[in-house]
Amino acid sequence: MTRLFEAKLLLPGLLVLATFFLFSSSAYAASFDLVLEGGRVIDPESGLDAVRNIGIKNGKIVKISRHELKAKRTVNVSGLVVSPGFIDLHAHGQNNIANDFQARDGVTTALELELGVYPVGKWYASRKNKAIINYGATVSHSISRALALHEVPPDHELDLFKDALAPDISRKELDDAALLRMTDILNQGVIDGGLGIGVGLAYVPGARRKEIFHLYQAAKSNSVPVFVHARVTSVVEPDSTSALQELIANSAATGAATHVCHIGSAGGVQVPTMLKMIDGARKNGVDISTEVYPYTAAHTFIGAAIFAGDWRKNIGMDYHDLQWTLSGERLTEDTFNKYRKEKSEGMVIAYFMPEHIVAAAISHPGVMIASDGGRWENNVGHPRGAGTFARVLGRYVREQKLLSLQDALAKMTILPALRLQSYTPMMLNKGRIKKGADADITVFDPLTIIDKASFEKPMQYSKGIHHVLVNGEFVVRDGESVRNTFPGKAIQNGK
Ligand SMILES: [Zn+2]
Repeated sequence: MTRLFEAKLLLPGLLVLATFFLFSSSAYAASFDLVLEGGRVIDPESGLDAVRNIGIKNGKIVKISRHELKAKRTVNVSGLVVSPGFIDLHAHGQNNIANDFQARDGVTTALELELGVYPVGKWYASRKNKAIINYGATVSHSISRALALHEVPPDHELDLFKDALAPDISRKELDDAALLRMTDILNQGVIDGGLGIGVGLAYVPGARRKEIFHLYQAAKSNSVPVFVHARVTSVVEPDSTSALQELIANSAATGAATHVCHIGSAGGVQVPTMLKMIDGARKNGVDISTEVYPYTAAHTFIGAAIFAGDWRKNIGMDYHDLQWTLSGERLTEDTFNKYRKEKSEGMVIAYFMPEHIVAAAISHPGVMIASDGGRWENNVGHPRGAGTFARVLGRYVREQKLLSLQDALAKMTILPALRLQSYTPMMLNKGRIKKGADADITVFDPLTIIDKASFEKPMQYSKGIHHVLVNGEFVVRDGESVRNTFPGKAIQNGK
């Protein structure tokens, strides 16, 4: 009797105890490494634009909630926008000096897709566990063709400028045997993880139309796009629109996708026509996309093929429109000829794009934002490597009201992710704030965000970026760079 009584008392007690353990263990399981609390979460893919708390665990977004979330660390971000981290499809800066400026501009993934790299496997290995933000690259067409020409010993440490873009090599044409060798090299680069084929066509005038058609066939057989700096920027026939038509024709004929790099500097005053051509091609089933950087000047090396021949007439600019990057001086006929002869790899800033053209491209539906920036030379360079994304959000969204915040963020997040995800499944979890996505997150103040980098002082961090997370780790915290942390991961074809 007594024992039965005791058992009856014991049973509810055990139940209470069991319930306690059950709840406390589930509470433990539901805890997060980090919660971003009270921010205005904008996810361009789903259209979410509301105050939410975000729970992060093991580098992933695991919960998005209206309710309070418990975590080891909570960071209050009320009054700030919480966006997917920005994805830059055109970033030549692939080292941690460049990465620091990119992160401070809200970028969590920076990819070298235009000129590409070689050898691809070795390049990825060189960045492993060392990168501040996520990294990736295409296989370089210009180096692949130089190798196919047997202009470069295969065991030689390759230099893009000296070995592939120098006038004597870049002007050579490939015969049929060399075209086959080039295709093999490109195929291997994609197998090694290259995110497509990177083509600086304007820098290799020896590449005939047949060569580029072959290259597109290689891209199609590997199911990857071609990222291309089009053949000419010219107002004189064959002009910039004909350069774009070559790419559209190759995409249509092979089925490989085209991504047109920097439509602003590819087209200058012809950009409105070229955007109509791209829209029309898309409507008619061609897989083609483009990007723009928010500046009226380009940046390239003075030895480039685009400065050969009657370039002033072709591009519609003159010597004084060129600025020698190292000194800031405007060029004359004499200094232009001197530098082109003596320091052909030296960089010049080229002022030739009208502001209204740049603005039209930024606000055009479907045009992505990409920097083309980051090759810093003795601490000078084009400001786009430091200010592109904050400049769009501050100058064009807030000040000029040229496009909505949501539309601008889509151009920096989901649109670039969509461009890559069909062959790079990792990108399905980037460019989004959703459950299961990688915790690549940029937190900024929409009322103060602005670029500070200028042509006079390019290495200036953007303002208004409060926090940046890469795979769940802070690389920018409270507006300051977090040093000695390298959470950046490789973005590779097929992974
Ligand atoms: Zn380019």
